Amino acid sequence: MTRRMVLCVVILMGAATLRGEDLRALELVWLDSHGLFPDFERVRSEADPIFRDLGVTVRWEVGTDPRPSLKEEARIQVVLMPSEPSGWGLSANAMGVVLLPERSQQDSVYLFYGPILRNVGLGRKAGAMLEPRARRDVGRAIARVLVHEVVHAIAPNLFHADEGVMHDALLIGALLQREIEVDRRTKEEFLRGLFE
Ligand SMILES: [Zn+2]
Repeated sequence: MTRRMVLCVVILMGAATLRGEDLRALELVWLDSHGLFPDFERVRSEADPIFRDLGVTVRWEVGTDPRPSLKEEARIQVVLMPSEPSGWGLSANAMGVVLLPERSQQDSVYLFYGPILRNVGLGRKAGAMLEPRARRDVGRAIARVLVHEVVHAIAPNLFHADEGVMHDALLIGALLQREIEVDRRTKEEFLRGLFE
């Protein structure tokens, strides 16, 4: 199977605005308005153990429309996008991007469905049309890109690690292997960003 490099692009437009007080859980809002990958529970079941390794539990909410939140607590919306990253001026292989708008009450992580499919060796296909094994693979890959970008959102100064979920180029192996490492520095910086 061909290995493709996957570039992760992070755009930092301002300081992270996610630092509430005495947070015990991270609140994430899953938005798949186009119904690209309806099996959210699979994404969640893959992402939760990685977040646990990072030291947090996640309160998930499934949203319907991307819209600004009026809540001021730590809350990130995760948006699965049908568009190609090149349309955003990003590398064609970018699977995710973080926008941290200054003074925004809600930071956003965007995941690009097309490149995620390509980077696990699949052609463009709606999640509902995938065979069970492919659906498992795509759910796992989405979860790992999701965690990667959420870490960027929480700890914008951390950037990348030499291995594991915060590697700058998540290859097919890292996207699909049974488990993925969370390195100590990533965990420390993530918790510092979330709780301090
Ligand atoms: Zn990255």
